[in-house]
Amino acid sequence: MTNDITFEQKLENYADLTIKLGVGLQAGQRLAIRAPLEAAPLVRLLAKKAYQVGARLVDVLWHDDALNLTRIQYAPRDSFDEFPAWHLDGLRQVVEQGGATLRIQAADPDLFKEQDPDIVAHVERVFNAHLSPARRISMSNLCNWSVIAMPIPSWAAKVFPDDDPPTQLAKLWELIFRTCRLDQPDPIAAWQQHMARVRLQKDYLNAKQYVALKYTAPGTDFKIGLPTNHIWHGIDAQTNSGITFIPNLPTEEIFTMPHSAQADGVVSSTKPLSHNGVLIKDFVLTFEGGRIVKVSAQTGEKTLRKLVETDDGSSRLGEIALVPHSSPISQTGLLFYSTLFDENASSHLAIGKAYRFCLDHGTDMSDEQFAVAGGNNSLVHVDFMIGSAEMNIDGLMRDGTAEPIMRQGEWAF
Ligand code: ZN
Ligand code: ZN
Repeated sequence: MTNDITFEQKLENYADLTIKLGVGLQAGQRLAIRAPLEAAPLVRLLAKKAYQVGARLVDVLWHDDALNLTRIQYAPRDSFDEFPAWHLDGLRQVVEQGGATLRIQAADPDLFKEQDPDIVAHVERVFNAHLSPARRISMSNLCNWSVIAMPIPSWAAKVFPDDDPPTQLAKLWELIFRTCRLDQPDPIAAWQQHMARVRLQKDYLNAKQYVALKYTAPGTDFKIGLPTNHIWHGIDAQTNSGITFIPNLPTEEIFTMPHSAQADGVVSSTKPLSHNGVLIKDFVLTFEGGRIVKVSAQTGEKTLRKLVETDDGSSRLGEIALVPHSSPISQTGLLFYSTLFDENASSHLAIGKAYRFCLDHGTDMSDEQFAVAGGNNSLVHVDFMIGSAEMNIDGLMRDGTAEPIMRQGEWAF
């Protein structure tokens, strides 16, 4: 019934969904797009849709994986503090002036595999430091923004290693279309239904105001506190000025922020984490009083350690997310080597920065007030997967009673 929709039509629908529901672009807004060079045809389609809904100006910050690799290979070893500040200053100006942003994610998961992890981490730290003013605005929901993905050959080859290159690309496109509900006759209506369903779950958890969550699964025995007046979010978000947008396409997760000083126990990863072109596999984090006090990994341990040691906040958590094991992305059974997809296959936590809008009045707080309330601050925010069909999660009430939230990886309320 749905196979008669052509590739071109799905691509057109993808651009339409991205601009109207993803970014939620409003007439009169500017749109800044960050995209890899390979995305040029999609960017042109997105720009057309943006102008059709009344965008004043669509501007693009292009980047190129190959150039980033060349720099790390050949630039002087003492040059990695250099940064073209005008790049991200431009992005900051757009969001400060009420514009919207869109990022198209398409990266080779193995790009930096052979490179020195110290240099890769250094380059990432410098980039994040420059991005942080603009990110602070978007993470406070002061502007509308979205992140979508697009297949490139190196990424598609990693997801489907046994196919020939054209098939790899075609298969990854189909997966993106399916997980973004673009195989449905009316994708926008399908998303509106999805949002309504998730709204009921968010409302339930927000009314409960559990003081902590308790996770049990093979290799995981972990308790994490939730700050007073935490807010569960999921699928869609609203800017302070009332614009509704979907920060990630696709998305299945419901998330909030943990208390940065209340995490104790052991957590084991259930999926590899692809970070800075390095695959970190089978890792275990041990927490005491909110801090990661022990890190071990089967592979990629050095990269994981560098990530945790980025700054003070990178040894603490900034996000708790719940995803049922039966989610469409989980059902593909694939590892996407991309957080945008893999985080929607599994319940997860994030190392680093917390989203201020996960706390009542969090966006109005000073850095100090947010920290006192339990909010974590860091240059990094990296999700890692801990959910499985064997995971049980309980919500702990103020009086210590436990209520089931998930059983065997599925919603239990
Ligand atoms: Zn997440
Ligand atoms: Zn996250």
